[in-house]
Amino acid sequence: MPPREVLQPRDALLVVDVQNDFCPGGALSIEDGDAVVPVLNEWIDEADAKGIPIYASRDWHPQDHISFQTQGGPWPPHCVQDTEGAAFHPALHLPQHVIKVTKGVRFDQDQYSVFDQTGLLDELKRREVQRVWIGGLAQDVCVCASALDARQGGFKVHVIKAATRPVTAEGGARALRQLRDAGIVIEED
Ligand SMILES: [Zn+2]
Repeated sequence: MPPREVLQPRDALLVVDVQNDFCPGGALSIEDGDAVVPVLNEWIDEADAKGIPIYASRDWHPQDHISFQTQGGPWPPHCVQDTEGAAFHPALHLPQHVIKVTKGVRFDQDQYSVFDQTGLLDELKRREVQRVWIGGLAQDVCVCASALDARQGGFKVHVIKAATRPVTAEGGARALRQLRDAGIVIEED
């Protein structure tokens, strides 16, 4: 569905973790991760033209974060604060007034969901948002967790499949099932 036809007032666009480290060449590279950029740019441009709020989240870890394999966590070190790897992909059309959501900063736990202790749920309610459109990385980790939390928070949630990529194909298939089961719409085209 082209964004021009669907985006309307009371929508919000959530761009999850489109950072260099999750793209080819990055520290936690996702296959074709950068393929989400041109798709998301269309959504960002349209949301921007319509005055729909755009939230861009970023994984933003302190050095030696608990989620890193070096500390016994599941992931290679990635998205360390203020490094090039933690920067948004340079081709992403983030407008000047994009609202950044920073997560993964806690020393004692990881945060996959952009709603996990960020206050974003209340922020969207305050703005009277009803529908949330989500894309970004990775489909089976932070996008999945964020979409489920948005749904749990009472929003209508649409995941833009072409604007996401999974860490693994199996993980992606599992995530899409989980999202559909939760009543989330997967935009297939
Ligand atoms: Zn992380």
